[in-house]
Amino acid sequence: MSVELTSGQSKTMGGVDAVSYTDPLTGLGNRVRLRDKISKLIQERSLDPAPFTIGLVNLDGFRPINDLFGHAAGDDILCQVAHRLRACMPPGAVVMRLESDAFAFVLPLVFDERGAVKVSDLFKDVLSAPYDLGKRTVRLSSSFGFAIYPYAGEDYAQLMESADTALYRSKRRGRGQVTVYSVDIAEEMKRATQLEQALRRAIIADEVDVHFQPIVDISNGYPIGFEALARWHDDELGFVSPATFIPLAEERGIIEPLTETMLKKAAQAALSWPDDKFLSFNLSSAQLVDPSTHGKIMSIIQSVGLDPHRLELEITETAMMADPDIANSIIDSLRAEGVSISLDDFGTGQSSLGRLREIALDKVKIDRSFVSEITRDRPSEHIIKAIIALCDGLDLKVVAEGIETSEQAGKLLELGCVTGQGYFYGKPMSALHIQEYLHSIGIARTAV
Ligand code: C2E
Ligand code: CA
Ligand code: CA
Repeated sequence: MSVELTSGQSKTMGGVDAVSYTDPLTGLGNRVRLRDKISKLIQERSLDPAPFTIGLVNLDGFRPINDLFGHAAGDDILCQVAHRLRACMPPGAVVMRLESDAFAFVLPLVFDERGAVKVSDLFKDVLSAPYDLGKRTVRLSSSFGFAIYPYAGEDYAQLMESADTALYRSKRRGRGQVTVYSVDIAEEMKRATQLEQALRRAIIADEVDVHFQPIVDISNGYPIGFEALARWHDDELGFVSPATFIPLAEERGIIEPLTETMLKKAAQAALSWPDDKFLSFNLSSAQLVDPSTHGKIMSIIQSVGLDPHRLELEITETAMMADPDIANSIIDSLRAEGVSISLDDFGTGQSSLGRLREIALDKVKIDRSFVSEITRDRPSEHIIKAIIALCDGLDLKVVAEGIETSEQAGKLLELGCVTGQGYFYGKPMSALHIQEYLHSIGIARTAV
């Protein structure tokens, strides 16, 4: 086997052929070399107990590169990564490739979190520059996990496990994240895993419920539709907010069965409302990158017997951004079936006015953060005014979220916003309570 070795690696080391220390693709050291390096450092530092740091880096979205451009292109990028990392290692530091797009480095002179973050800022910049692939270039961000000896572990295995945990957390939080292992982070990860297990159990046992919040005509307070909101009460954990368990379900790949049962329950409940009341259902970001979403949603509402014209799906701009082409094709195909699309939480996150033109929308929901300030804060009032004028011009309906007082409702009406939702009109209620609520205002199904 012909392997190109970097200088200094062509010697035999302790009787073992140097090749077993080397990654043939990049010429960097491999996992054996990493273990060796860390074990030696630990031995040295046991006499002089100064900390040192190990780091793991993983490219974000590397796998699709192999699929899209072929393995040769993938290998080419890995060699460029190796080259860049080696070029920017601080004095005394070494970089190794463990497998695929996983690289590790040992930083003997980085003693604390601040130092690790500083180094990762440099590495992140270096790795985010475009990669040359002949006729085209690609850009990739990278995620980091660090472990500091001896706090994160006193031997090779413990340190690597801690660095792995830190990297896993970075990956879970999205792209380009950096985590330095700490006891708090280990706790956080443990809690997330416990929550995940409890949620998996709850989904199987059908314990996640759906509640509904009225969306009303502000001029008279009468409901025009209801937003479905997930509710989960665990015997041990108590009430868990959907703002916690929905993102977790997405990260851990269990959002699909969860959504399926929730949409089924929500659609069934909607059948008992008057026909002119719509059901608004939140789509998660994972569903906007999955081309099978259209088929799944349609088959659920068809099996329940809900008219697609009564269904609205709420999406967020952030979810749209992950893969705008797929998201747009899902939206277009659902709209072709008669389903409406609302843009949720408008005004927060990565809001862009251009997006209102790029996505085929029916409705915009103004985020609660503006509504809650509308009577106190002039800028919020102006922002709402501008959103309403903009949507008017684009022929989009507007819903104000989080209305809690009659003053807010009055102000919104004055500004021309005619629909809204919030505790002032009703908190999210169970399907049964919605029936009672409809009866109490005299618009139950039989009365219409
Ligand atoms: P969201 O879609 O923006 O839902 C509105 C949230 O605001 C709900 O919180 C609702 O209870 C709350 N809310 C409504 N009116 C008021 C008000 O007047 N004052 C205040 N302070 N809050 C109000 P909830 O139910 O805790 O849901 C939180 C988030 O979790 C939702 O935000 C949504 O992003 C997500 N979520 C909930 N259910 C589902 C679901 O079935 N699927 C998906 N993908 N996401 C869901
Ligand atoms: Ca929503
Ligand atoms: Ca919202």
